Amino acid sequence: MRLILLGPPGAGKGTQAVSISDRYNIPHISTGDIFRFNIKNNTPLGLKAKEYMDKGLLVPDEVVVEIVEDRLKNDDCKQGFLLDGFPRTVNQAKELENVLGKMDTELNKVINIQVDKKILVERAVGRRICRDCGSTYHIRFNPPAEEGVCDLCSGELYQRDDDNEKTVAKRIEVYLSETEPLINFYDEKCKLSTLDGAKAISQVFDEIVEVLEGNTK
Ligand code: ADP
Ligand code: ADP
Ligand code: ZN
Repeated sequence: MRLILLGPPGAGKGTQAVSISDRYNIPHISTGDIFRFNIKNNTPLGLKAKEYMDKGLLVPDEVVVEIVEDRLKNDDCKQGFLLDGFPRTVNQAKELENVLGKMDTELNKVINIQVDKKILVERAVGRRICRDCGSTYHIRFNPPAEEGVCDLCSGELYQRDDDNEKTVAKRIEVYLSETEPLINFYDEKCKLSTLDGAKAISQVFDEIVEVLEGNTK
């Protein structure tokens, strides 16, 4: 299964990606996670990406496309993959078609998670992430058993630098101008399914499974 998760910052893409990747045994490829990993390790890519991420802007297409192309060549993508946070511009989407064409394959489905702007800000600002395993929590909507501590690995939870109100507002603006046009792009290719991401985490997941498997739950 070759899938894309589309949606604004805070829509719940990363949260759903973990369950989808688990159920269908496909790698979860998050370009944001790849950049954060590089920032943490002080690589040249991390330094470059950070300049844009801190401002809520997109990292240039050519940088992102190269990373994704490399990643998709890995053996673990042979049975499929789940892209989270890529593509984010029509140009990235076209480049992805080229990359997949060269690999003689194509996408199966684009799942668009729709959430109102008011909810997005609260979700992103309350998001907390485990330093050790990357699991995502929310201080209100999905809190860990013990404040600041990961349920899965006891790692320390932190708040992303770009999850503050000002930067989130900018990211939403960038989403609307650069990424939202992808909804039409994929709709015209008959690949798109749109879901209501305001529902509970488990309910959204059930609906994703329904989209991918027909009526089986
Ligand atoms: P994205 O990857 O789209 O930016 P995340 O999956 O990281 O979004 O979710 C953003 C925040 O909202 C996280 O703190 C997460 O725990 C929380 N969250 C995700 N899905 C839901 C949901 N359906 N209801 C309430 N909170 C959610
Ligand atoms: P969110 O889903 O909350 O927006 P991500 O982790 O997907 O967060 O992305 C964080 C930041 O990483 C983005 O604001 C952007 O600066 C950069 N980024 C991630 N993916 C891409 C992409 N496909 N193209 C350009 N920039 C990206
Ligand atoms: Zn953890």
